[in-house]
Amino acid sequence: MTSAGPVAVFGGTFNPVHLGHLRSAVELVERLDLEELRFMPCALPPHREAPGVDAATRARLVELAIAGAPRLTCDRRELARDGPSYTIDSLLSLRAELGAHRPLLLVMGSDALAGLAGWHRWEELLAHCHIVALARPAAALPAGDVVAAWLERHRVGVAALREKPAGGVHLLQLRPLPISATEIRGLVQSGRSARYLVPDPVLAYLERHALYRQEANDCQQ
Ligand code: ATP
Repeated sequence: MTSAGPVAVFGGTFNPVHLGHLRSAVELVERLDLEELRFMPCALPPHREAPGVDAATRARLVELAIAGAPRLTCDRRELARDGPSYTIDSLLSLRAELGAHRPLLLVMGSDALAGLAGWHRWEELLAHCHIVALARPAAALPAGDVVAAWLERHRVGVAALREKPAGGVHLLQLRPLPISATEIRGLVQSGRSARYLVPDPVLAYLERHALYRQEANDCQQ
């Protein structure tokens, strides 16, 4: 890549990826004029139970979902590491790959932001990236706690995301889409349809491989 536009990473379990993630990604690319937005599925989430569907399958679903979409890619680096998928480790390796000057944006929903103080080495994150927090309909911004105070100190406007490689927190309100992976797993498990909440190729894959039909569904590729 020759240009030095911002690169964003959208980390998550993506169990499965859905239109809330995908529409947010498209709007982010356009609003922030991103060079690239990488979905980065985690292998082993540090803060929640191991997903019943393995990481390679969740990454495959992301790849099916974004096939042909300009500037959207899937970054499998967390699948290549053992142990919990700590975001700080991914940021260090992304920074080494992108160089010191390229703006790097870590995207997360407001629900993830609210739990940030529980993340491994969370206070080091901004040394390596900016954080872009997306408002989610069911999750308020942190208030009156350590994350709220940190947010107040580091909050920046949109211009700072291009001017510096890292260090700011930017809050963004995109089109609110109250869709969650929990809801999709629940629909499929109870025999109802997830059509139009996930892209058609993802729906077809879920049906073909009978994913999420039982509560703890082991991957069947
Ligand atoms: P689950 O219901 O299993 O917790 P989820 O739908 O929140 O899943 P994740 O894979 O955990 O999806 O989310 C990855 C990231 O995407 C998180 O930062 C989350 O806040 C964000 N996100 C998820 N759904 C939306 C949505 N509808 N709009 C904006 N951001 C979202």
